[in-house]
Amino acid sequence: MIRGSCYCGAVVFELAAQPSMKATCHCSRCRKAGSSTFVFVKAADFRWIQGEDNVQRFAPTPPFTFGRAFCKTCGTALGEPGAGDTFPISAHALDDDPGVRNRFHEFVADKPAWYDIADDAKQFAGHPQKS
Ligand SMILES: [Zn+2]
Ligand SMILES: [Zn+2]
Repeated sequence: MIRGSCYCGAVVFELAAQPSMKATCHCSRCRKAGSSTFVFVKAADFRWIQGEDNVQRFAPTPPFTFGRAFCKTCGTALGEPGAGDTFPISAHALDDDPGVRNRFHEFVADKPAWYDIADDAKQFAGHPQKS
């Protein structure tokens, strides 16, 4: 079991299985939302323990589609829990090691100069391309 929670502790969830993968996005939207590294979780493996009613959701202006969920009390970004059969969860909200490491970095062209990538995962200038 992999546990996750927000900073203030109001929101707690758990993952019944290891996420399928982990990736980091360097776009300005993820950066401003304070959530750039995600694990991808199957809906069947995700369970709220407490605080689902304390989660606020933000929908971006089109063409952007990635919604943002966060704790109403402390603002911890949570990813997009409940969006589809598989969805991203903010890796920083996890309390346990998810067991997966970065598979890729996306939107590296938008990466700020003050952030250095320090792993060997593949890098894509924008959306990941099949190679
Ligand atoms: Zn909180
Ligand atoms: Zn992004």
